Parts: sequence; structure tokens; C-alpha cells
Amino acid sequence: MRLRNITGSREVIADSRYVIHEEDWNPGSWQGIFGNANPIRIEIGMGKGQFIHALAKLHPEINYVGIEKYSSVLLRAIQKMEEEELPNLKFVRMDAEDILKVFGPGEVDRIYLNFSDPWPKDRHAKRRLPSEAFLRRYDVILKKDGQLEFKTDNRPLFDFAVEELEPAGWKADVITYDLHADEKLMEGNVMTEYEEKFSSMGNPICKYIIRR
Ligand code: SAM
Repeated sequence: MRLRNITGSREVIADSRYVIHEEDWNPGSWQGIFGNANPIRIEIGMGKGQFIHALAKLHPEINYVGIEKYSSVLLRAIQKMEEEELPNLKFVRMDAEDILKVFGPGEVDRIYLNFSDPWPKDRHAKRRLPSEAFLRRYDVILKKDGQLEFKTDNRPLFDFAVEELEPAGWKADVITYDLHADEKLMEGNVMTEYEEKFSSMGNPICKYIIRR
């Protein structure tokens, strides 16, 4: 997702108390930031934050961090927090390539990837968020028995993501190629913005839940 540049979005982000800014990045410090020892779950590439804001509202006993690369998109998530502030949700503006600068070993309880950008050209495969290169980074920050959940309607990206698991040392607890047809997996499913859009067009939604 890339929105047109919005004048002043960088300034709003710089002033926002919902955002943990680069100068304050300190792996291992998240319990201090939230002021409690609740589990920390993150969405990488959260877009405008619909999914993570809804999850944080549903689960006040869990802390959430939404990560987004673009200021113009993060701005929308900040505006949502201004309308409905949640103490257990923070944001980081960053490229996920820098994730090890933000979270320490085993600090994260669960990782969500939703409708990640497909980067269809082979030479860009390493930029795909469910690629082996990224799984190796997630391996560091995710606690020992933690899980990663990935949803997308993009079948080539999903097939790629499934192929990356074994070489990276991960295995699937769940794989479905039609999430919305699976009553059990749909229990407690929180729809992302893209999930609403693409499922309403009739696209089946693929999902895996993986661990090491
Ligand atoms: N997760 C949301 C959803 O399901 O509605 C948004 C999906 S949108 C297609 C993908 C988002 O991931 C975009 O907002 C994009 O800017 C962000 N993104 C892509 N690559 C990223 C990266 N390397 N680091 C952080 N964010 C990234």
C-alpha cells in the first residue's frame, strides 16, 4: 500500500506518542515501554492498522506493535488511535529489514503478516516478507514456541511462502487455501483491510500458521 505523500505526515509521526521513534529503539525494552510483562505481538506491514487496532481492542491483556514502512500510511493508523486510544498498541515506522534493531531475541510472542506485497520479480524475492531471508530474522525475535500467521489472497506468493519454510527450518501447524470456508479457522478471525476487499471480490484467502 502506498498513499500519495501527505504534507506534514512526517511531522505528525515525529510528534506522536503512539510511535516509538528510531532514537528510542532499544531491543529488549518493550516491557518497559508498555509498563507490563504482557506478551508482545506484532504485525509487519500493517497498512492503515485496521487489523492490529481491532486485535488490540479485543485483547487488552496483550501488547501489540504495528510496523509500517510508509509515513503516509502510518499516519492513518495514528489518526485511528487519536479517535480511539488504546494503551496496548504502539507503532514503529521502519523497513522490516531493520527488525533486529527494534526487538531483542525471543521478545515477540507472535508475528502477523497480512497481504504482504508480492514483489513478483524473481530478483526481488528476498524483499518478500515471508521469504527465507525474513524467516531467519523472525527466528531471532520470536520466542521459542511462538507462531507466525500469514494471510494473503495471492496464490503465487503463498506457494512461494510455503516452499520457503523447510529451508528456513520452520513447519506449518495449519495451511489452508480457503480460510473463509473453514468454520473452525474462522473462529476469532479478525479481517484486515485487504482481506475485506479481496474476499468481497470472491478471492479465496490463503493462510498458514507456522513455528520452528
Ligand atoms: N496488512 C494490511 C492489510 O492486510 O490490510 C496492509 C497490506 S498492504 C498490501 C502491505 C503493507 O505492508 C503496505 O502498507 C506496505 O507499505 C507495507 N510494507 C511492505 N513492505 C514492508 C517492509 N519491508 N517493512 C514495513 N512495511 C512494509
